[in-house]
Amino acid sequence: MTHAPFTLLHHIGAGDLPSDNGAVFELRSPTDGALVGRVARGTGFEVDLAVAAARAAFGAWSTTPAPARGEVLFRAALLLQARKEAIAEVMAREMGKRLEEARGDVQEAIDTAFYAGSEGRRLFGHTAPSELSDKMGFTLRRPIGVVGVITAWNFPVAVPSWKILPALVCGNTIVWKPAEEAPASGALFAQTLWDAGLPEGVLNVVHGFGDEVGAAIVAHPDTRVLTFTGSTPVGRSIAEIGGRMLKRVSLEMGGKNPVIVMPDADLSLAIDGVLWGAFGTAGQRCTATSRLIAVGDAHGRMLGDLVRRAEAMRLGDPLDAATEVGPLVSEAQRARVHGFVERAVAAGASLKCGGSIPTSAALGGGWFYPATVVDGVQRGSELAMSEVFGPVLAVIRAADFDEAVEIANEVPYGLSSSIYTRDVNAAMRAVHRLQAGITYVNAPTIGAEAHFPFGGVKDTGNGHREGGWAPYEFFTELKTVYFDYSGTLQRAQIDNREG
Ligand code: NAD
Repeated sequence: MTHAPFTLLHHIGAGDLPSDNGAVFELRSPTDGALVGRVARGTGFEVDLAVAAARAAFGAWSTTPAPARGEVLFRAALLLQARKEAIAEVMAREMGKRLEEARGDVQEAIDTAFYAGSEGRRLFGHTAPSELSDKMGFTLRRPIGVVGVITAWNFPVAVPSWKILPALVCGNTIVWKPAEEAPASGALFAQTLWDAGLPEGVLNVVHGFGDEVGAAIVAHPDTRVLTFTGSTPVGRSIAEIGGRMLKRVSLEMGGKNPVIVMPDADLSLAIDGVLWGAFGTAGQRCTATSRLIAVGDAHGRMLGDLVRRAEAMRLGDPLDAATEVGPLVSEAQRARVHGFVERAVAAGASLKCGGSIPTSAALGGGWFYPATVVDGVQRGSELAMSEVFGPVLAVIRAADFDEAVEIANEVPYGLSSSIYTRDVNAAMRAVHRLQAGITYVNAPTIGAEAHFPFGGVKDTGNGHREGGWAPYEFFTELKTVYFDYSGTLQRAQIDNREG
């Protein structure tokens, strides 16, 4: 199917506009290199305009009753449902995610919109008794101001929805820079909010690159809150700048997620899970299974079947239902992934399948890389420790449960983790000992649900969580109210004490 290339503009205040300097960048399909669209390339100038629009909109939006704000999100959820297929198709074309998974990406935003919409009728504070008579205390949640949102390309709708929808229902206004590799599906997501009745200026979108638009959002004195998903080095720099400016900063960054398979596990279930975890979205997930830690004889008993099935995974057009592994997002990303495999093999690891750039004419022009399994990966080696962000599974052997947990925990990251076992004691010990924000038992490392907290420890995050109930705390300022109805001066810590 051929599509005419589109033109994507910024959306600031009431409408769409090109860059002041007229600059654009081209978006090319990772599947065949075809021109998908031309995108306005913003600068600090557009960021200034967008922040001003968001500031101007803050007064009215922050005082709109939260249940009414939530109703906008419910309407957006219904529009997203109606437009799910169209958005998923654009996503598959622009960044190469298989259509089935792209639909899941949009579904996550729909689920989040319903959850966030309902939060408009909660946004609970606390009440507590006072230590004095005829006095009470309670807390309430106040919107903060303009939120700067910066997101990665691999979940172009789901991840932004985790940030934007809670921030909105909490009464904040937003300047968002979608990833430059996948701006179009994100723009369609934003359009559902505008079409659902979000007032002008409440959500502003500025397209462009990280060091131009992203950096300007981070450094702008009026973005009091920053929420970022992307790589650990960029997140670290955002935390440094935001920290100096006393901004509230939430970071979701890289992962190196392990699946531990114990000898007593249902190995066929474990193989299903490892294949889905490692090669779903061509491994380009922060939660991708990038390490299989096979304990004892689980290694020998599962590796043959695992490799046979990985080898058979079909590369192809993400819009073709028969495709099992789509292209990587860019040529640079493919070269990076291939480099990890080449260096691991040169260092003595054993390539079991994949590991070479396809030459088939049918895949010509696309950034494809096959499902790759590397066995005999040594603890502490580059492939054991670094995030690859591609369809590469490192297999590491462990003698027993304790060694497996030690291996799982020795990377700098801590996002997702998993153990396959039938032993409830081993499962619970792993739940407590694995250093990760998420642990799955008898399931792969991927598959977050909108109503549970999502995030990681160590170099993956800075202590915040998206999804579930946590972001409503992040996107609000807590106000404590003391209400004295005694009609007298009552002095805490003094009048209710003898002597
Ligand atoms: P990246 O850090 O290069 O880019 C992410 C976003 O930050 C993009 O919008 C980019 O334009 C912007 N950016 C880049 N430099 C910037 C700067 N100096 N100032 C402000 N913004 C800047 O990440 P990527 O390589 O595109 O994405 C892949 C990474 O994202 C992986 O490490 C992956 O694990 C991570 N990720 C994490 C999660 C999570 O929830 N933990 C989810 C998805 C992806």
